[in-house]
Amino acid sequence: MSRLIFLPFDQLHRDHGALRTADPKQDLIAMVESDRMIAGRNWHPARLHFLISAARHFAAALQKEGFTVDYRKAPTIIAGLESIQSDHGQPPVTCTEPSSFRQHQLLQSHGASFVANDFFLTPRPLFEEWAATQKKYLMESFYRAQRIRLDILITDGLPTGGSWNYDKENRLPPPKKYDGPPYLEHTRDEIDDQVAEELGYIPSTTWATTRDGALSQLHNFIDNHFGEFGPLEDAMTTDNWALHHSLLSPYLNNGLLHPQEVVDAAITAFNAGEIPIESCEGFIRQLIGWREYINGMYWHLGEAYRDNNRLNATRNLLPLFTDPNKTSMNCIKQTVTDIQSRAWVHHIPRLMLLSNLALITGTNPQQFLDWMREMFIDAADWVMVPNVIGMGVYADGGQLMTKPYAAGGAYISRMSNYCKGCDYNPKLRTGETACPFTTLYWDFLDRHREQFAGNHRMRQQLFGLDRLADLPELRVRAQEVLSGLDQGGI
Ligand code: SF4
Repeated sequence: MSRLIFLPFDQLHRDHGALRTADPKQDLIAMVESDRMIAGRNWHPARLHFLISAARHFAAALQKEGFTVDYRKAPTIIAGLESIQSDHGQPPVTCTEPSSFRQHQLLQSHGASFVANDFFLTPRPLFEEWAATQKKYLMESFYRAQRIRLDILITDGLPTGGSWNYDKENRLPPPKKYDGPPYLEHTRDEIDDQVAEELGYIPSTTWATTRDGALSQLHNFIDNHFGEFGPLEDAMTTDNWALHHSLLSPYLNNGLLHPQEVVDAAITAFNAGEIPIESCEGFIRQLIGWREYINGMYWHLGEAYRDNNRLNATRNLLPLFTDPNKTSMNCIKQTVTDIQSRAWVHHIPRLMLLSNLALITGTNPQQFLDWMREMFIDAADWVMVPNVIGMGVYADGGQLMTKPYAAGGAYISRMSNYCKGCDYNPKLRTGETACPFTTLYWDFLDRHREQFAGNHRMRQQLFGLDRLADLPELRVRAQEVLSGLDQGGI
């Protein structure tokens, strides 16, 4: 045996990381299913099922190729590795650079040697080079540099189509009645059923657990959804939980798909003339801009970043996050119910409903981060920490974003059909039927007025606040709403 390669459950790609050069005749593959991973937190069972079943399928595929795979259950990853090493003559461990600080430290302390992590399009040292040249780490600057560096949607040195972004075209509300293609269903096999039995959970057919399934999800998106993705990417509707979203993030984040494969499929379809530029650009921005930027910033900002709480938000996690029956807010009830069903909602409910609510209620960022980590199928540490702490609840005081993503009911009313079926009225900020988002949006600005006074991007909002004639009344209603939310009665 020449190498013992440890394979974490989020690096399941044959052509990347340490596996890229692995030889079935010489290398031993070690995989560990740890008790800590399964029972260490209150994980969503769909997430656990997906991660474990995908890992077992991947182990089986490697065995079919001729590899010896030692797949063990153990209390912790290190305990599992120690027992595998001890049974194979104590070889040292080789591993791709892990995707979280915690796992990096654990494996480093165990003496593992690392192969560079190429599960992203931007090597970590390259991101650091970019960051060193920036005064402010703006995603938009990074994205444009990525377009040029990777030569994606660039024509004669300029953005293809004449614009770097098509956000204006990509903000349509949901159609009156969404009548899109059916959801792609993934059938279950023996491995899926075995994992389901062990977890005591019946999985839906939403998520694939194999490389083939992940590829069919990619093709389904390109063939049936990509063209209409852009304009509806921010819309929310009770008619359809996915709209034209790709549903590829779980596979990108556990390695079953590599971002380069997804970029290639998207650009091939665009070059064939099948896809409007606004859809292509919107999707490419998420892949080579947002996703790479968030991963780069996770490592750049350091491990202590997750503990930020610059707005001194101390409220305990609201009961509605764990029980949708604890609220009459239709948007939140529907969203949390969707998450309980399939461990996923798209980026706008995550940002403009869940994070917005945590932000304007002053919910403790670390409690909210823990909940987001546990609930979402694609919630890797590297993605959730900057997304929640920086983008979602502004707990870093503006290291990532130039202003907080706070919004009242008007935005939600415009971008969804939730308000039609709600007890509250998005236009009202005071009174018993006032939308809690609208009341708390103004109250949030009022509470943090001094903190935001120096931020020129908040000037317009603070100007609006100064013009509210009913501010005293609104403050009283905000206290009622906050205590009602704490008790699960709003
Ligand atoms: Fe949500 Fe307010 Fe609309 Fe109700 S009225 S669905 S709480 S935004």
